[in-house]
Amino acid sequence: MNRKEHVLNAALLAIGLGYVLHPSGDTVTFYTIIEVGVPVILGALFPDVDTAFGKHRKTLHNLPVLGLFYVFPLVFGNLEYVWIGVLTHYVLDMLGSKRGLAWFYPYEKEFGAPFGVAVSSNHATSVTLLVTAFEIAVAALLVHHQLVVDAGLTAVGMQ
Ligand SMILES: [Zn+2]
Repeated sequence: MNRKEHVLNAALLAIGLGYVLHPSGDTVTFYTIIEVGVPVILGALFPDVDTAFGKHRKTLHNLPVLGLFYVFPLVFGNLEYVWIGVLTHYVLDMLGSKRGLAWFYPYEKEFGAPFGVAVSSNHATSVTLLVTAFEIAVAALLVHHQLVVDAGLTAVGMQ
């Protein structure tokens, strides 16, 4: 996807994460959106640097790079949440567009999903919104899975 879609995706994801983590909708929610949103947007812009340095959708679109951003805050105590932006960039490229990513670079084979639209398509924005909604749903499930499990058990009469 292009820069516009990646920024849209990251900004909406940050708002979604703010509400997933603090559903109250008060100043804590707002603070979380800013706290998470700025590094996530920066992280979402990073992978496409490989259009200028390296091979696009390979050099900075892979699991080793994601791992580096995940481990960096644990070692150096900054750049927290940037990995979320990098990850959401990969997910949007993979699910939203036709071309895949070289997830295991330097192994150059690209892996994608069997669907998606051309990056230049008029549907790029709607696909971006769909992928973002999916990501927020997954995040909500990960954060609140106990609630979901409880609701499921209640629904089948097991508690
Ligand atoms: Zn990309």
